[in-house]
Amino acid sequence: MASELVQSAEVQQLLDRVAGLDVAGGDPRKKAIMRRIVGEIFAIIDEFDVSEDEFWHALNFLVAGAPELGLWAPGLGIERFLDIRSDLADKARGVEQGTPRTIEGPLYVPGAPLAKGEARLDDGSDKGEVLVMHGQVRDTEGKPVAGAIVDVWHANTKGNYSYFDPSQSAYNYRRRIETDAEGRYRFRSIVPSGYAVPPGGTTERMLHAIGRHGNRPAHVHFFVSAPGHRHLTTQINIAGDPFLHDDFAYATRDELIPDVTRQEDPAAIHAAGLNEPYSEIAFDFVLGKAGSEAEEGLSTRPRVAAIA
Ligand code: FE
Repeated sequence: MASELVQSAEVQQLLDRVAGLDVAGGDPRKKAIMRRIVGEIFAIIDEFDVSEDEFWHALNFLVAGAPELGLWAPGLGIERFLDIRSDLADKARGVEQGTPRTIEGPLYVPGAPLAKGEARLDDGSDKGEVLVMHGQVRDTEGKPVAGAIVDVWHANTKGNYSYFDPSQSAYNYRRRIETDAEGRYRFRSIVPSGYAVPPGGTTERMLHAIGRHGNRPAHVHFFVSAPGHRHLTTQINIAGDPFLHDDFAYATRDELIPDVTRQEDPAAIHAAGLNEPYSEIAFDFVLGKAGSEAEEGLSTRPRVAAIA
């Protein structure tokens, strides 16, 4: 997008100075990135003939959007792009990935209650359909991983997450489940609903301006971790959701859409300790081998603090 004006000696010299290239201090990589960012803004202003008014309104929109930047990142495909790069880097290194990664999103809360083998995630206040999900954590050689931590979080039937929705109890739909000796985990919860970005917020306004929507299909988030194994950040989607393949955050992956079985057989319902038909998902996680200690841990992305 080479703009003649941006390429001119005067503007190039301005960019050098803006990026601190004419002074000794500072970090060279940051100087290079800054020069590129500002240069691209200059080029966009020139190519699209952005007026002064438009520029200042855009800057103000960015300032107003600060609390929602965690949604801009998935909505603008940046979180997906980071995953695409990580997948390619794995491939180039010949690393066996196991269960595919997909985006974390901005709604994780650390420190959820820890349970052994199985847990109930919901506090019973949302009368949505019961979801029973279970499976095994294995390594890429097919061996069960005992003591793995399945850290799960999802929304309620209104599409809201506890903590961010203060009307819910602490850690509702959030648990850490330690796998048993066979690497198995199991939980009871409710089938979550999909959700949209906050109505009237900057993410929605931005997406509407370019003809897009801000909806996500129903999904369940997971971190799965165990010593010696690569930390996995992923989600499963609830099959049948109208936005399954139209996720504003681009997180849906074919390998992450398990079948949902509706259990209507009275014997099965009774065996599950329930009185009504429920949905069941079986899903196994496969963890890659960690090449370093850093790969075992969660990324250092800033997150909210655990609830005291
Ligand atoms: Fe989510």
